[in-house]
Amino acid sequence: MKSVIIDKNLDKPNEECGVFGIYKSNDNLDIVSITQDALYGLQHRGQTSAGITVMKDGVPYSVKDLGIVSSVFNDKNLSALPAGKIAVGHVRYSISKYLDRAATQPLVMRYREGSMVVANNGAISNFCEIRDDLEKHGAIFQSNSNAEIISYTISSEYISCNKIETAVLKAMEKLKGAYSLVLSSPNKLIGARDPHGFRPLCLGKIQDSYMIASESCAVETAGGEFIRDIEPGEMVVIDDAGLHSYKCSVKKRTSLCLFEFVYVSRPDSVLDNVIVHMSRRKAGEILYKEAPVKADIVCGVPDSGLDAAQGFSAASNIPYVTAFIKNKYIGRTFPGSSDKKKQRLMKTRLNVLKATVKDKVVVIIDDSIIRGSTSAHIVELLKEAGAKEVHMRISSPQIIYPCYFGMRFPDREEMISNQMSLKEMEKEIGADSLAFLSIEGLHKTAEECNIGLCDGCFSGHYSADIPTRIFIDKFANKIKEL
Ligand code: SF4
Repeated sequence: MKSVIIDKNLDKPNEECGVFGIYKSNDNLDIVSITQDALYGLQHRGQTSAGITVMKDGVPYSVKDLGIVSSVFNDKNLSALPAGKIAVGHVRYSISKYLDRAATQPLVMRYREGSMVVANNGAISNFCEIRDDLEKHGAIFQSNSNAEIISYTISSEYISCNKIETAVLKAMEKLKGAYSLVLSSPNKLIGARDPHGFRPLCLGKIQDSYMIASESCAVETAGGEFIRDIEPGEMVVIDDAGLHSYKCSVKKRTSLCLFEFVYVSRPDSVLDNVIVHMSRRKAGEILYKEAPVKADIVCGVPDSGLDAAQGFSAASNIPYVTAFIKNKYIGRTFPGSSDKKKQRLMKTRLNVLKATVKDKVVVIIDDSIIRGSTSAHIVELLKEAGAKEVHMRISSPQIIYPCYFGMRFPDREEMISNQMSLKEMEKEIGADSLAFLSIEGLHKTAEECNIGLCDGCFSGHYSADIPTRIFIDKFANKIKEL
């Protein structure tokens, strides 16, 4: 039987990528091992491919492939990487059903000064326009990745200024949408965050060497110390003279993705002054205030429902218990047809601790509902285990609209909130009651955030221009007018 790659997260949005970079100062550091450790810390952001590129004396050396960090890297292939000054790492979630090896990052390109290494997280919203323009001038693309569009834009700008810092800043004026970028020129490490700040990007340090990472948990996993977030519209350049900060001339309303707090980021990360774990706990507390229920126990769906369940318990004084045991060892390849494999995966992924739920009125907290199939399965599991009543509470508002800024949801017709009323959903998933956090409540969970927040997929109001066309078919080069 044929093995196929499956989406382990099933009824969840798909996060896109994690980026990392380090510039070795005069320390005696093994930057390859540090980058590998950091990528372990970012694995939750993407499991389709992983890569490390080391820049030594202006020459890039890469190990990258499809797969998770532990399967792509081994002692043999990593020991072939030289002891360079700069390393760039990337983990990626592919939204394409085709496994596009050419899009595996870090991407290594050649421009006038030499080699450029690019790793990106985000989605360029004027992708089609930029690609059209570049193709008209003769560019040939190897993939459909945003990183390739970004590299071409930077290299085109470089022609007129001959300075990589200026080229990146000029490219930032042209690129719209979401990008958190780590880039290496032959002798500089550069980090850049789009002017809206959709995706996180931060700065860390280990001994005297600077690091750039998608999340602070990666800096700490790699043995470093978190210094600060890279600001929206900021570019940092690290070279032998130290750290330099520049601001892009484009000013935009800042809008960090609220879904980073709900689901994507790790609870031990701090994003723009908000500890993700605390934000999720607070979501649970507010959820209880907005949709209280009398119950015997409260429990969470592993993993990202657990923190909110603790908050719900703290606010309600309903005891918090572990109701589900998650199988952490399920691999990413599964034999069988698409529907069957999903059913099998659901069955093998979560198991109920019957003793804790039998004859109890249960509140179950999950972070989001997209299609509703997983929620129905969870309610069914609890009822089969003897729960008297099951009340489902969701620690985010209903997802109704698409994301154009780096998060992949199914088509709108597939989202349960676009198909049914709340009462119909409650019936569909078999819960005794169902309630979602309000949009105002969600904003309160990140009220300490020092930049603005995006709630576009919940509210339909986007703080940035949305694309008018999207690229839909990598082989036929089709573009869909929106
Ligand atoms: S639309 Fe939703 S998922 Fe996309 S950036 Fe905004 S909050 Fe995040």
